[in-house]
Amino acid sequence: RTVLIAGGTGFIGSHLCNFLRKNGYGIQIISRMPGPLNMSWNDLKAKGLPEKVHAVINVAGQNVLDMKQRWTAGFKQNVYNSRINTNKALASAIIKATKKPKVFATISGVGIYEPNHFIEYDETSEVKGYDFLSKMCLDWEKAAQIQGSDCRCVNIRSGVVLERDGGMIQQLYLPFFFGLGGPVLPGTQYLPWIHMEDLCRMFLFCIENDNINGNLNGVAPQIISNAEFSKAFANAMNRPSLIPVPEFMLNIILGRDRATMLTKGQKVLPRRVIDMGFTYKYPSIDEACREILQKSLK
Ligand code: NDP
Repeated sequence: RTVLIAGGTGFIGSHLCNFLRKNGYGIQIISRMPGPLNMSWNDLKAKGLPEKVHAVINVAGQNVLDMKQRWTAGFKQNVYNSRINTNKALASAIIKATKKPKVFATISGVGIYEPNHFIEYDETSEVKGYDFLSKMCLDWEKAAQIQGSDCRCVNIRSGVVLERDGGMIQQLYLPFFFGLGGPVLPGTQYLPWIHMEDLCRMFLFCIENDNINGNLNGVAPQIISNAEFSKAFANAMNRPSLIPVPEFMLNIILGRDRATMLTKGQKVLPRRVIDMGFTYKYPSIDEACREILQKSLK
């Protein structure tokens, strides 16, 4: 059974490919670059889905927190288009396919929920765009809709994905290693998170359970603040978590729009995920950090 993964070359995508392979699936990737397992977006448009695709997954998207990129109108357009257009292209290929895959699984972010210290969000919470990134999440999810098709559509609203070789942990590793790490101020903001392996397990869960449809909050059940994350990460590394990162500095480096991803947070519960019967391998941040860091010392 083949799974077609757009963005299969990325941080999440490459872990997902390995994980699904270990679970007996064949992989085909859609990428902008040529490669032995890759098909191009042009091929998808011209020829449609490859034959006998069991599931289609989209984890493509221009990296929002790329420090080398200034937060310009052009870069924002790339961030937006790389998500919305890829979902649209895949949805349209699925609608046109005579033999449909069983499931179309996509990713979006918890940034769809407005940061608030008191509201608890679950998958039934109302969402409305309040800034650029949340409006993008709404359009991203809408672009994946394949109403009327007999292919299931599932979307995972992911928290920060934790693993050694990419994303937030890769950026924090060296400062913490040298004892220069600390929370992003004010520190009390929530940090919705998930261990990479649990995210991959959640995608597999979506592929293999015929009754799953709609949005799932891809976050761990333990709600933590940014300061609690820093402490857990520093403890697992046997380092202190002393040197805080001021909010104004991130606003300058990243631009206020995307700095909010780190300086503000949402209290997100995976209520539907748990109701559906998913169980976590890394439900607590201490275990997750320990696993990730121990592995990297081997
Ligand atoms: P990466 O940047 O590692 O990889 C994303 C992949 O998307 C790349 O390998 C690339 O594939 C493709 N891509 C990049 N830019 C473009 C573009 N302009 N047009 C089309 N394709 C593009 O990202 P992650 O793996 O970290 O994240 C994947 C998705 O998950 C993103 O949409 C992200 O917003 C979302 N997400 C990630 C979280 C995280 O913590 N990492 C948290 C929540 C959501 P190629 O070069 O082969 O074309």
